[in-house]
Amino acid sequence: MKFNTKTIHGNQEYDKAYGAVMPPIYQTTTYAQTTPGGHKGYEYSRSGNPTRTALENSFASIENGTHGLAFGSGLAAIDAVMKLLKPGDEVISTNDLYGGTYRLFTKIFEGFGIKFHFVGMENASKIESYVNKNTKLIWVETPTNPMMNIIDIKATAAVSKKHNILLAVDNTFATPYLQQPLNLGADIVMHSATKYLGGHSDVVMGALIVKDKELADRLYFIQNASGAVCGPQDSFLVLRGIKTLHIRMQRHCENGKAVAEYLKQHPKIENVYWPGFSDHPNHDIAKAQMKDFGGMVSFTTKGNNYKEAIKIVENLKIFTLAESLGGVESLAGHPASMTHASIPKEEREKIGVVDSLIRLSVGIEDEEDLIADLKQAIG
Ligand SMILES: *Cc1c(COP(=O)(O)O)cnc(C)c1O
Repeated sequence: MKFNTKTIHGNQEYDKAYGAVMPPIYQTTTYAQTTPGGHKGYEYSRSGNPTRTALENSFASIENGTHGLAFGSGLAAIDAVMKLLKPGDEVISTNDLYGGTYRLFTKIFEGFGIKFHFVGMENASKIESYVNKNTKLIWVETPTNPMMNIIDIKATAAVSKKHNILLAVDNTFATPYLQQPLNLGADIVMHSATKYLGGHSDVVMGALIVKDKELADRLYFIQNASGAVCGPQDSFLVLRGIKTLHIRMQRHCENGKAVAEYLKQHPKIENVYWPGFSDHPNHDIAKAQMKDFGGMVSFTTKGNNYKEAIKIVENLKIFTLAESLGGVESLAGHPASMTHASIPKEEREKIGVVDSLIRLSVGIEDEEDLIADLKQAIG
């Protein structure tokens, strides 16, 4: 089965009771037993729920894994991965990382005795110098947020395999439409399904997908033991979202390209960060491991003026000023005052988050309307 078909039919079966085409929302906590242990596969909805199972099966299918697990948020999914580790273990992670992931690693798991190395991973050979006998996990985000750096998953997997380390990839920005990390050698794929998989800005959810039964069993144990599961209604909504992932992503990519190209020729714009440009430093890797370049675009203005950037995001009418990304509607964010406000100015500027940086999640509206909106807002 090819990808577009998988988003709709992958690992799905019609409802056994009445042939419902979509799985019913099993809004129940528990399941009647005929005799102790005599049940039809479900006992309690933290441990399993049929609507969630349908979604988890879809997750596995679209990422070409064998097992999927759904969580109450993207961070809950990352939290479950970190619970594979024990005190003294070390993690090598991307340095330009989603802020919430960085907070979870440094404010929670460092306190539990796990050591993190935050490394610029654009060159895979750099990763190897941080490997020692305690290294248990490599954590990769690509493209990165908000600078759109690209990390070579295959080259990173070669390092993880050589040293017998787990490789996890946060595939939130790319989605399996653009890249499938398990096919490139990763062991775990993670999603904030809140973003493109859900796709309609109405559910907070996380996902893990693996291709190994033993790893799946360990993560399932953590999912059930720690209990950060999602509810059946949310499972239904994300399952519905996934069915249009391929056509939404196609339009996100088309509009992302149009917006990036418009910004690049604009006389008031300094830098445009989008991996589709041939002069993007990691363009060749992006071209090799991604099917297209996605709908996320960041840019800075000439003069790098904080107030001017705020004015632009305030002036936008179709782009909504808001956190998050990956929904059908276009959003704009100002990292220096929003997502990255808690990071000291010198620190954030080291990774490129300067005062005038604006991040766009380009939606699936008409390209002409989006460009007209940027035109009036930038002036
Ligand atoms: C949003 C996001 C997360 C966190 O997911 P939540 O669903 O908000 O918990 C992790 N990684 C990336 C890249 C994200 O964009």
